Amino acid sequence: MATIESEYYDVLGVSRDASDADIKRAFRALARELHPDVSSAPDADARFKEVVEAYEVLSDSERRATYDRLGKAGLKNRGFEPYVDFGNLADVFAAFFGDDLLGGAGGGRQRSQRGGDLQAVVEIELAEAFTGLSVSVPIDVAVPCERCNASGAEPDTGTSTCRTCTGAGVVRSVSQNIFGQFVQQHACPDCGGAGEVLEHPCAQCRGDGRVVVGRKLDVDVPRGIHDGQQIRVRGEGHAGFRSTDRGNAFVVVRVRPDPRFVRDGDDLHTAVRVTMTEAALGTTTKVSTPAGDIDLEVRAGAQPGEVRAIKGQGMPSLRGSRRGDLYVRLDVAVPTHLSDEQRKLLEDVDASVGPDAYGSPDDEDEGFFHRLKSALR
Ligand SMILES: [Zn+2]
Ligand SMILES: [Zn+2]
Repeated sequence: MATIESEYYDVLGVSRDASDADIKRAFRALARELHPDVSSAPDADARFKEVVEAYEVLSDSERRATYDRLGKAGLKNRGFEPYVDFGNLADVFAAFFGDDLLGGAGGGRQRSQRGGDLQAVVEIELAEAFTGLSVSVPIDVAVPCERCNASGAEPDTGTSTCRTCTGAGVVRSVSQNIFGQFVQQHACPDCGGAGEVLEHPCAQCRGDGRVVVGRKLDVDVPRGIHDGQQIRVRGEGHAGFRSTDRGNAFVVVRVRPDPRFVRDGDDLHTAVRVTMTEAALGTTTKVSTPAGDIDLEVRAGAQPGEVRAIKGQGMPSLRGSRRGDLYVRLDVAVPTHLSDEQRKLLEDVDASVGPDAYGSPDDEDEGFFHRLKSALR
């Protein structure tokens, strides 16, 4: 029974009577177009998988005949499962095309390569995060060897052709996968892909072309930086194998907690303590900010736990010139020991003030919920 299913042919853009050569040509053209390193189309991965699945079926005469007669359902009944998990698609391409797909990328005579990234950590104070600062971070970094100019060869000595790969820089292996039998290329293990071996490795770097040195890395830490953020310093990472091309350095900034503040983004939270009578009578008190102390007016009748927002007294923003806010919670201290005389005085005050002076219960509730909301911020 014939089916009208033709999805796989449509995916490859070929007719149902296309020859094997037509199918292969169509696949290769699509694969080049959809290569993940080349295509910027967001659906390139998904389309590539469809293309591969179609090719898996149509390039195999038995599967193709099954598909022509019974469609996808027929393939499934015969145990064919599309090769869904491609892992790294670039690997699939390398397996299929060798290294000719992208003009030699991925293998071949690779003399050198960029070195790895370096990570360092610097710890600063909150006050330093407030102002920003320059730091000098000690690092151990692989740098190009000066004795051999990163070539790995002792000065005035040369190289000879690698015998393992006869100078090609690659060795081949044959493997079997869904596409059939493939010749795969790997960088030569003996010359690292260079195709040449050193007659006399450099005495300084033992042929590596790089040496590890202790250095200071100067980094500008911007004002407003947050704990755990990292700063990239281009080209200050490790040198590659026989390469002057260095990776990047990343400096992770740890901001030490300041016991006076809790940081919340660019906002800061702090607390001030006034006495019971100061809260009742009103006062002026000092409150810490990262830029130094400022005066805070405490109104008469201020309540314990009350939070005051002071605009623009928090941390500077990393972006732009605005500053976060400072939230100040009022702690009210109550005497813990009183003499008989003081006790009598307070009792007289209490009798004189009376319960009404503490505000209505409604006010109190509002105050309570306001404080609760502040505490839960
Ligand atoms: Zn050297
Ligand atoms: Zn070799």
